Amino acid sequence: MLAYTYLEKGKFELMEKPKPILLHERDAIVKVTLASICSSDLHIKHGSVPRAVPGITVGHEMVGIVEEVGSKVTHVKPGDRVTVNVETFCGECFFCQNGYVNNCTDENGGWALGCRIDGGQAEYVRVPFADQGLNKIPDGVSDRQALFVGDVLATGYWATRISEIKEEDTVLIIGAGPTGICTLLCVMLQKPKRIIMCEKDESRLAFIHEHYPEVLTVSPEKCKDFVLENSDHGGADVVLEVAGVPSTFQLAWQCARANAIVTIVALYDAPQVLPLPDMYGKNLTYKTGGVDGCDCEKTLQLIAQGKINTEPLITHTYPLSRIAQGYELFENKRDGVIKVAIEC
Ligand SMILES: [Zn+2]
Ligand SMILES: [Zn+2]
Repeated sequence: MLAYTYLEKGKFELMEKPKPILLHERDAIVKVTLASICSSDLHIKHGSVPRAVPGITVGHEMVGIVEEVGSKVTHVKPGDRVTVNVETFCGECFFCQNGYVNNCTDENGGWALGCRIDGGQAEYVRVPFADQGLNKIPDGVSDRQALFVGDVLATGYWATRISEIKEEDTVLIIGAGPTGICTLLCVMLQKPKRIIMCEKDESRLAFIHEHYPEVLTVSPEKCKDFVLENSDHGGADVVLEVAGVPSTFQLAWQCARANAIVTIVALYDAPQVLPLPDMYGKNLTYKTGGVDGCDCEKTLQLIAQGKINTEPLITHTYPLSRIAQGYELFENKRDGVIKVAIEC
């Protein structure tokens, strides 16, 4: 089968590989129908994910059809259409039992697919702990509608859940990339009084205006003043930082009102500085990143009910045979790209 493979720093290649087989009684083999390219794939390509193993098939956001299951798998069966979770988790350890599946203590837990073990930008993928990692796609929900359930939408849903948003709140979301938009969709379900999106990219701002006209938008340079003018208590009640650069890390606390919640969703390349003397008395509550992707069943239901629609994020689609072109487009942010889908 064809599999897009991480060879060495800077080099991915579409290669012929053997079809995966069941290695454990809790595994499933999934025939991938649709995969997507994520910015974490680019982090692997650029060598900034040290635990990524050269030779692995990349891709950790995909949907497909169950082909084969191990003897201990009970929740899914061959023929089921499923989403695949970015995280591998056992479902049994202390952290899994408390919903902190990102911190699963199993030696195979955490971000494994497309990083430490073969992922899904391929025709088939082996999914460990299939009862945890696979969720059935409801009838009436298409592959394209379900594509982001296991990764970027899971992140947006988790970030919203931990941010304790109330109806009288002004919520600031910094960054309108794919994860920022998924976060926006989940924040909208909480019906806060105002949502402000801060983004510097013109085409992303245009995407927000087109699809979510009720959302206020602002550039990073004007963000602080704008939030002050458009909030009731001298700043945002909740800030979600999804952009992940030093300037947006600073913007997050600067735009927050006293006693606000600041949720850090982004992954940074380097340590960030909290200027505590300047922040003294602001009494902020910080929540830091690392998605607990354990609400996929709930988000699939919200999609089935028409309450979440991530399909407009798929701006480009390529067959697996031309995946390199999809990467080139995504990496260079050409042609207004938000997300690229790969038909496997
Ligand atoms: Zn990802
Ligand atoms: Zn666990």
